[in-house]
Amino acid sequence: MKIAVIGFGAAAVGFLKEVDPSNDVVVFEMNKDIFSSSISGIRADGKLFVSSEMGGDLEEILYDKKLQKDIVDYYSKLSETEPEIGSRENIEELEKQFFINGFKLVESEFFHIGTDKLKIFLKNAHSEFSQKGIKFKFNSFVKDIEVSNNIKIIYLDRENREEHEEYFDKVYIAVGRSGFKLIDTLSKKYPDIILSNTKVDLGVRFELPDIVVKELNDALYEFKVKFKSSNGQLVRTFCNNPSGYVVTEKYSDFITVNGHAIHDQKSTNTNFAILVTHSFTKPFNDPNGYGSYIAKLSNILAGGDKVILQTYGDFKKGKRTKKLWKVFPTLNQNEYVLGDLNLVFPSKTSQSLVEFIDNLNKIIPGIADEENLLYGVEVKFYGKKLDNNLFENLKFIGDCSGHTRSIVHATAHGILEARKLKN
Ligand SMILES: Cc1cc2nc3c(=O)[nH]c(=O)nc-3n(C[C@H](O)[C@H](O)[C@H](O)COP(=O)(O)OP(=O)(O)OC[C@H]3O[C@@H](n4cnc5c(N)ncnc54)[C@H](O)[C@@H]3O)c2cc1C
Repeated sequence: MKIAVIGFGAAAVGFLKEVDPSNDVVVFEMNKDIFSSSISGIRADGKLFVSSEMGGDLEEILYDKKLQKDIVDYYSKLSETEPEIGSRENIEELEKQFFINGFKLVESEFFHIGTDKLKIFLKNAHSEFSQKGIKFKFNSFVKDIEVSNNIKIIYLDRENREEHEEYFDKVYIAVGRSGFKLIDTLSKKYPDIILSNTKVDLGVRFELPDIVVKELNDALYEFKVKFKSSNGQLVRTFCNNPSGYVVTEKYSDFITVNGHAIHDQKSTNTNFAILVTHSFTKPFNDPNGYGSYIAKLSNILAGGDKVILQTYGDFKKGKRTKKLWKVFPTLNQNEYVLGDLNLVFPSKTSQSLVEFIDNLNKIIPGIADEENLLYGVEVKFYGKKLDNNLFENLKFIGDCSGHTRSIVHATAHGILEARKLKN
């Protein structure tokens, strides 16, 4: 069977690892090689988790901890590293403290690979798949797809600036969240594939000295907590990076913030995202557009292609930050402007962020220090939830399906779809 996989990210890794090599498989990736693309967790940071409470909503993955653990082992083996983990000491007491202060600690085991070691993983995975006979077409941006008895892929060869068409028996779309343009094109053409489209997460990347959160970092490595603010919004932490670095994430027409940690190079700061879920009801149906506009607004206020940095004290007072003196940013100086995030966020979002940080300070004194740093904005697009039962020969795997939100779940989704093909 002639099979195309669109995108080389976590879902593609799972699919290619599992697919029967007797098939003729071609991977189309818009970037120029396996390493390029900052907008993918298998190229930055690489925090893997085993949990039945997060990472996606497919029950066959959530409740199969063996599958999740096997995936962690696969990434560790191919990255030739021993992942960093938390000691899980004193976890019951921490759980209790979070609970009585209005938080829910999400149950999970974490394994951190590191941006540097992911390069080794990508090299080894690419060589394993190439030896299996899988072909890779880099610099190939898939613009459109037409579904009939077989499937036509229309793609742009970015190197030669030529458009090509190719036909396949079966196509697996694995374009992640950065592939939202292709998903938008297909959902306009085939509106029945959309099951729901209601949410976007907006917030900040928070940075503070390691010493304030050392106990938490040592016990958990990644602490994931959820909190309901007084206006009803759900607020959560995401992607904690002990001794890590804040980075920017470049989309085609806006820039957001993110964070990562490197296995063999450490800073003295910890960063994590604080995200507020924004849920919409009819007639509004473009949460990704909403998130993109807010991100663009922060860039406009920062002079075009930068993000905004503010101290927590100034954020609470609604004052532009003019100088820093106690906590120093790990983001490059030429990528941010000191400013006021209250000009960017709706007031209820700012209110939820302040309530979250002030309540967290009861458990971790020092979190709400006036000099800790907020970078904005951080956005997490959920992706429309897509129906994989509509077409027999076209499937959506990983984050672009709207059903996964993590490396382990996206990889598992790829594995499960490849197994279905064998049956
Ligand atoms: C900076 C960053 C850090 C993250 N860190 C973590 C983490 O530590 N742990 C965790 O569990 N999750 C993390 N995530 C989330 C995680 O990366 C995703 O959940 C996971 O990678 C999803 O896998 P995927 O295969 O669906 O998409 P991706 O891994 O994003 O792969 C999609 C691929 O498709 C390509 N593509 C997109 N559009 C097209 C097109 N039209 N034509 C051809 N190719 C295309 C992209 O270039 C990309 O290579 C992080 C995300 C980001 C952005």
